[in-house]
This record gives sequence, C-alpha cells and structure tokens, in this order.
Amino acid sequence: MRRITVFGATGSIGQSALDLVARDPDAYDVVALTGGRNITQLAHDARRLNADLAVTCYEELYYELKGLLADTDVEVAAGPQAIAEAAARPVDWALSAIVGAAGLVPGLAALAHGTTLALANKESLVTAGPLLLERAKTHGATILPVDSEHSAVFQALVGEDMAAVERVIITASGGAFRDWPVAKLATATLAEASSHPNWDMGQRITIDSASMFNKGMELIETKEFFGVDPEMIEVLVHRESLIHAMVGFNDGALMAHVGPPDMRHAIGYALHWPDRRHLPVERLDLARIGQLTFEAPDHARYPALAIAQRVMQMGGLSGAVFNAAKERALDGFIAGQIGFLDMSRVVEVTLDKMSATGGLQSGAITLDNVLETDRLARVYATEAFNQLG
Ligand code: NAD
Ligand code: MG
Repeated sequence: MRRITVFGATGSIGQSALDLVARDPDAYDVVALTGGRNITQLAHDARRLNADLAVTCYEELYYELKGLLADTDVEVAAGPQAIAEAAARPVDWALSAIVGAAGLVPGLAALAHGTTLALANKESLVTAGPLLLERAKTHGATILPVDSEHSAVFQALVGEDMAAVERVIITASGGAFRDWPVAKLATATLAEASSHPNWDMGQRITIDSASMFNKGMELIETKEFFGVDPEMIEVLVHRESLIHAMVGFNDGALMAHVGPPDMRHAIGYALHWPDRRHLPVERLDLARIGQLTFEAPDHARYPALAIAQRVMQMGGLSGAVFNAAKERALDGFIAGQIGFLDMSRVVEVTLDKMSATGGLQSGAITLDNVLETDRLARVYATEAFNQLG
C-alpha cells in the first residue's frame, strides 16, 4: 500500500485526486488530509478513506472538526503549524493542492523527507522555485507537475534531451472575457469573472484565468520547473483547451499533448508516474470535434502576461512579489474593493515600488527572505489599491 497525503483535499484539485484514490482504496494508506473551512467535506473524506489525520488550517474550527470525527480513530488538528506538522509525516506520495503561497511551507516540509511531491500549488514555484528544487535535490525527493500545461510538457519531454528543446508553448483558453470588448473589462463583475468556458476549478484560479494572471504564473512556473530561458516560452490562445502544451525541438518537431480538460488526467499521471494506468477521463473523438483553433494572445486584453515576462527577466525575489501582490489584488477584487483591471495595476505598482528599493534581484531565495518579501508585497499592494479606490 502506498502511503499518501493530500494537502488542500477539499478543493477542486483535492477532490479530483480523492476521486481517483477512492476508486482503488486498497492501493492507498491515507496518512493525512488537509482542508480549510469546509470541514464537513474534510470529515466525510477522512472517514470514508480511513485517514490517520485530518487538519483544517483554521484553528477556530478544531472542536467542530473533532466533533464530526468523534466516533472514528481519525486524529484531528488545526492551524497552519498543524499542516506543516502533517507534512512532516513520511509518505510515498503527497499532493500539494493548497491554493496560494500558504502551500510553500507544507511543500518544503514534505520534500524534506524525500517524498514524491505532486505539485498543483503553482504559487510555491512562482514564489520560491529555486528553494523547492534545491530542497528536493538535497533530500532525494521528486517534484512532479500537476498543472495541466506543465504535466503536458513533462510528458512531451519523456526520453528527450533538454539540449534539443527550442521552445515550450503553453496554451490558454482565453478565460471568461476572451470575447469581450477590451473597453468593457473595467466593469467586469465578480460573478462574470468566476465562470470558465472550459474548466471547472476553484474560484481564485478561475478569476486568474479571466485576467491571464494564471497564465502569467504558469510562464514563471515553466521557467522555474524546466529551467528554460524566458525567451523560449510562449503562450498560445487555444479556445478548445484540448492541446495543453507543446514542446518544440531543434529538428522542427512540435510534440503536442492532447487530452480532455479534466484535471484527473494530470493528477493521475503524477499519481502513477513513471507508469501509465487506466484513468476515468473522456476519450476524445477528434472527428466530432472537427477543428482546433489557435491565436496569438492580445496583450492589451491581458496585461498580466507582460508583467509576468518582466518578472521572469528580473528573477530573484520578484516572483514572490508578483504572487503576493496578485493574491492581495485578487482578495481586493473578490471583496469588491477594486475593479477587474485594477488587479494588474496593483501588481505593477507593487513591483515598481519593491524593485526601486532594491534587493529583489540580488536577495538570496531563502525561506525567511521569501516570507518577508511576500509580507511586504501584500502591504504595498494594499496601499496601492487603497490609492486606486
Ligand atoms: P480550491 O480553492 O478549490 O481549493 C484550495 C484548497 O486549499 C482547499 O482545500 C482549501 O481548504 C485549501 N486552503 C485554502 N487556503 C489555505 C491556507 N491558507 N492554508 C491551507 N490550506 C488552504 O483551489 P483549486 O482550484 O483546487 O487549486 C488548488 C491549487 O491547484 C492552486 O494552486 C491552483 O492554482 C492549482 N491548480 C488548480 C487547477 C484546477 O483545475 N482547479 C488546475 C491547475 C492548477
Ligand atoms: Mg494550468
């Protein structure tokens, strides 16, 4: 039996992962499941999968969660520290499906005992990519990408020599506003930004898809994870979301990964890697689909892409600023404090301010520096959006 832990088990990715696990319960020994406010779901899954431990990141929910699991053997804990402690329990495979920079510390803790870490939490790679990769190397741990584009690139690279790679193309659906007049974007509401044409995902990544902050994050994720130059990475708008990424080689070949928009593919690939196993996802009928379309991204519609490109060039701690300012701006948009287009302004102003005070490019990427940079960026981002409002 493989010992596994799922961080962010109650979210969209976490639930897709548990769907795969629950289909083959005898194959897995579930060590820990973690979640947030949805303790009903967390307790339900911990009970049905017979987890050793269930943790909510909210301390105030401890007794409620404990009550829900009182008649079971499941251990209960609460708070960010308890999540980091859960991550210190050795497992064979862990999935990091927490949303936001909060995924960084548990991810690092899991890598420290040499596990295989399936990483959906792109924020930790954007914030502290070199730190994660170094931690994995030091402890003989493996990081596997779960973001669909990065899983696709990873699969296209099996058996290939990185020296023969000329370019990496990640596709983007264009999100909720791909057909809106650009002039109308300033008035986009939360409800409008929270619906995705192709993927069913958590609310934050759905809004980030509408703004393409998600694709910006993924550009940085590609650079960090695969170690390719920023100039080699391209974004291609592909409305159908069936080709997830392509790798271009020095002989002119493009290897494309084609599959249904169902995250259980990328999660399942990481779960069974290096093998391939049967997965319960749709088999594409390409004759019925008929055609696939491609467009260059419109930078006026998606200013987040240029900001991400700037961050890739800057390197250092600028990824931590980009992610934190983006998270804070997104909080502001969700709370109705700022408009849709203000999010990119907030991130840009925060980057300008923090790069002017120096140290972003030269600062060492240590956990302390990253957490302090993240904290400061949120303060500057809040100031920036208060000035806008
Ligand atoms: P979600 O909002 O549906 O779920 C997030 C999970 O994280 C929940 O279990 C929640 O309880 C937990 N969580 C939230 N804040 C936390 C905190 N401060 N500390 C600990 N746990 C916390 O999000 P999601 O859509 O499942 O996305 C999860 C991650 O996967 C994100 O990094 C996202 O970018 C990435 N991802 C998601 C998809 C997708 O299809 N949903 C695709 C690719 C990548
Ligand atoms: Mg993605």
